Amino acid sequence: MYRIDSIKLKPPIQDEKTLLAVTVAKLTGLGPADVNNLTILRRSIDARRKPDIVLVYNVAFDLTKPERGMKLLTSSKHGVEVKMYKPEEYQYRRLAGRMIEEDERPVVVGAGPAGLFCAYILAVNGLRPIIIERGRSIDRRTADVKKFWESGKLDTESNVQFGEGGAGTFSDGKLNSTVAGKSMFANEVLKCFVRFGADKSILYSNKPHIGTDELKRVIINMHKELENLGAEFHFECKLTRCIIRDGVLRGIRYKKNGESRERACRYAILCIGHSARDTFYSLSMEGMLMEPKAFAVGLRVQHPQELINRDQYGAGYERKNLPAADYKLTYKAASGRGVYSFCMCPGGYIVNASSEEGHLAVNGMSYMKRDSGWANSAIVVSVDKSIYGEGLFAGVSFQRELEMNAYNLGQGSIPVERVGDYFKCADAGHLSKSAYTPMIKGKYRYAPLHELLSKPLYNDIREAFTDFDRKLPGFANDEALFAGVESRTSSPIRMIRGESLESNIEGLYPCGEGAGYAGGITSAAADGMKVAEALITKYF
Ligand SMILES: Cc1cc2nc3c(=O)[nH]c(=O)nc-3n(C[C@H](O)[C@H](O)[C@H](O)COP(=O)(O)OP(=O)(O)OC[C@H]3O[C@@H](n4cnc5c(N)ncnc54)[C@H](O)[C@@H]3O)c2cc1C
Repeated sequence: MYRIDSIKLKPPIQDEKTLLAVTVAKLTGLGPADVNNLTILRRSIDARRKPDIVLVYNVAFDLTKPERGMKLLTSSKHGVEVKMYKPEEYQYRRLAGRMIEEDERPVVVGAGPAGLFCAYILAVNGLRPIIIERGRSIDRRTADVKKFWESGKLDTESNVQFGEGGAGTFSDGKLNSTVAGKSMFANEVLKCFVRFGADKSILYSNKPHIGTDELKRVIINMHKELENLGAEFHFECKLTRCIIRDGVLRGIRYKKNGESRERACRYAILCIGHSARDTFYSLSMEGMLMEPKAFAVGLRVQHPQELINRDQYGAGYERKNLPAADYKLTYKAASGRGVYSFCMCPGGYIVNASSEEGHLAVNGMSYMKRDSGWANSAIVVSVDKSIYGEGLFAGVSFQRELEMNAYNLGQGSIPVERVGDYFKCADAGHLSKSAYTPMIKGKYRYAPLHELLSKPLYNDIREAFTDFDRKLPGFANDEALFAGVESRTSSPIRMIRGESLESNIEGLYPCGEGAGYAGGITSAAADGMKVAEALITKYF
């Protein structure tokens, strides 16, 4: 196969593949019929010269007349660089059908992206993993979350953080990650998403996204496949203890329907996510080595999507059939701390993502179409012990305190305030009238949110907003809306793991975001695959 990079096409584009085949033919002097099996390897939007927007493609193709290939590679007459192309495939190992003892079946704790993809590799290799998940199966969980958003009644074991699919289920479903393109695991994660029903465009979009509606379908199909491969799911089943003797894992204790049970096992993979604070404490008490890890906190801000589209694409974008625009903003405050936009959700919703009674945390989500008409992201400040003090769980306590204050400030609902009132520290007493409608899943109410963050963090965000408004005119508009608190941007701890990816306890593997080795759906899933491969290499 052959590859050509950086082909630029002007939107709107009806039939992408046909237009690309014609363009390749023109660029190389081939006939359109010569270009065969054209595959889009990458598509990105270049808006640097807005409103003159172009879509940039890397493509691969083969030739109906292979004998013309050499000329294509050697001739420079056509003035475009043509390279040989060989797709990289992830090689699944398939262990020979070795009978395994019941206690050799690995236990995967947590059915989020890390847990599901870890279990998938183990199952493909015939190891019949046991998946235990403290939350409920996806349909029941969806009902629990809907009830919470409508009534404010939280189920602390089945919510936006806990349950089948993990934290990413009620999300924007952004699948881009810093490891994508570089890690064969990350590429395979995207291929698996397509295998389980996601749109093929995630394989080549530079910002792949599937929205919460599509993500749920993928998780249901993956569940079925895992069961076909011999995996076993146990919901409402919470790991409470690891049974360890002489530094070696011997089994686990878990709670199911309020009853405590034990299971002998030699291998367990902890894919528990960044919100499993109770489990962090118990693992640390049992001697698992961990260290504090920096993270970030802040507030979610909402703007009309139209404003972001105009800022990013320029005038006339409406006629170009472009997706809802996103943004990535960073700023270094005078304090030396970083302020940046996190988990930006174009055409999305702010959501109540709490998991503990009396504590309130927000996040963002969207559906595949990203058509809510509003854009939101978290504007967060990097924090570390200089802010929350020494101690393994000082970061967790800091998060919990912020969430408790947010809960009290909003009297159990999401506290919101207009950006103008926030920076004037003016207690308006109500949400000032504006055409900017809050697009929020969960109960919300006006509160003097400017009282929530400490002065140093408040000042960092204030400073950054001046810079962000320069980059995206209208970003600091008084009518824009703040909602708080965004506290769970990543894990506040890291579980120590060695070269074999095992913890200091033999047979016990820390994995994914909660363990401090991933940030986001794709990188957590990729870490799940990596850990499964490491376990197989060492023990099977
Ligand atoms: C609202 C929201 C939107 C997001 N949007 C995006 C996005 O658009 N793109 C993106 O890349 N990332 C997004 N994220 C982050 C992403 O969801 C996480 O990075 C990812 O899910 C981490 O995967 P994980 O498998 O490591 O952990 P998690 O997904 O957190 O899964 C951990 C699982 O372990 C279970 N568990 C915890 N403790 C126990 C126990 N003791 N026993 C049994 N089970 C247990 C939990 O119930 C949970 O289901 C979002 C997160 C949220 C909350």
